[in-house]
Amino acid sequence: MINLELPRKLKASANQAHQVASQIFRPISRKYDLAEHEYPVELDTMAAMIEGLADSGTQKIGGAAGGRNDEAATDLTANANGGNMSALLNALETSWGDVGLMLTIPYQGLGNAAIAAVATDEQLSRFGKVWAAMAITEPSFGSDSAAVTTTATLDGDEWVLNGEKIFVTCGERATHIVVWASVDKSLGRAAIKSFVVPRDAPGLSVARLEHKLGIKASDTAVLLLQDCRIPADNILGSPEVNVEKGFAGVMQTFDNTRPLVAAMAVGVTRAALEELRTVLTEAGVEISYDTPAMNQSAAAAEFLRMEADYESAYLLSLRAAWMADNKKPNSLEASMSKAKAGRTGTDVTLKAVELAGSIGYSQRTLLEKWARDSKILDIFEGTQQIQQLIVARRVLGKTSSELK
Ligand SMILES: Cc1cc2nc3c(=O)[nH]c(=O)nc-3n(C[C@H](O)[C@H](O)[C@H](O)COP(=O)(O)OP(=O)(O)OC[C@H]3O[C@@H](n4cnc5c(N)ncnc54)[C@H](O)[C@@H]3O)c2cc1C
Repeated sequence: MINLELPRKLKASANQAHQVASQIFRPISRKYDLAEHEYPVELDTMAAMIEGLADSGTQKIGGAAGGRNDEAATDLTANANGGNMSALLNALETSWGDVGLMLTIPYQGLGNAAIAAVATDEQLSRFGKVWAAMAITEPSFGSDSAAVTTTATLDGDEWVLNGEKIFVTCGERATHIVVWASVDKSLGRAAIKSFVVPRDAPGLSVARLEHKLGIKASDTAVLLLQDCRIPADNILGSPEVNVEKGFAGVMQTFDNTRPLVAAMAVGVTRAALEELRTVLTEAGVEISYDTPAMNQSAAAAEFLRMEADYESAYLLSLRAAWMADNKKPNSLEASMSKAKAGRTGTDVTLKAVELAGSIGYSQRTLLEKWARDSKILDIFEGTQQIQQLIVARRVLGKTSSELK
């Protein structure tokens, strides 16, 4: 029989993240929604806790640091839960609290997941404890990540980076930025590599911050790289350009980060369903698991449908992370999880506003906020349409040039 219970160790760490979400995030959720660009100082306490726990070897709390794919236990007959699963559950629980705050947890940026996925042991010793944002998007492209125009030129023992990166989550607050740049534009996408750029690198600056629909607690920056110099060994992965392999190297980071973003959407979805259940119950709507949905009120039937979507998004996300931990190729499953969870998040949070009526639309609850926050989870790290495209390509066995 399939047992879908979480192992005890993971449950304990998820519970810990849930405590943080309910005791630290929820009480300040509205405050930072209304104070865009203000740094949530409360998170510094959390950062100190995370550092303490990391030093003592205990589980991380929250965040999107992701896991090293070889973090899975070594001899458990390919059935282990490692860093990816643990990061996924933490991301889910903290996003249940507040996804904007979750995205700005110190030392747990999306760039950390990229570092964890591909850094060498030596790089991990240097970058294992930094706070890393992820900078791929440029003014000339978003979805088409092969269109990177930022350049990296080797000059002695330094890389010199030039370009503009936009919509960088934690771009102002993080201590480091993982930047995608081309080492030789004439070689196309295979020449795109990722580089760890320290905040104080000469030539790196923040041009401005974005105002947004939701996740207002999270800073989103435009970054300029003007003759920005970093050490030669800050390149992640091999500096060699392997045209045959394409840009599979940098794309591999998405296999780790997409399930995490899916988990964020699952977390917000669960928050909205819980709040909606309370609102419906107070309004006298009964939700029964013993009666067919068609024999219940329309609101109850909708609730049951949304709960089923939530469950499937949750299970798809677990599968994708489990595969990453067990070194199974998971690009298809990572995209499936993000497509399903991203859409479920936006559907459920907006429907919850609808079903709760004026209570949902007002600021009396966080329902309207979650409806605004959830949309980004269906956009960044690859939009809904891009995930569907990847799934279609993989299922039909088509290349990216055959199916665009
Ligand atoms: C708040 C926020 C935070 C972000 N954080 C980061 C970050 O930390 N790092 C980073 O690098 N980027 C980040 N981004 C950028 C984000 O990843 C891009 O916005 C996203 O990849 C989409 O790119 P785009 O906005 O240029 O849309 P486009 O690529 O122009 O797409 C516009 C629309 O067309 C659709 N579309 C595009 N191509 C196809 C196709 N082939 N088939 C069908 N439909 C298609 C898309 O799905 C979308 O609906 C962030 C964005 C926001 C808003």
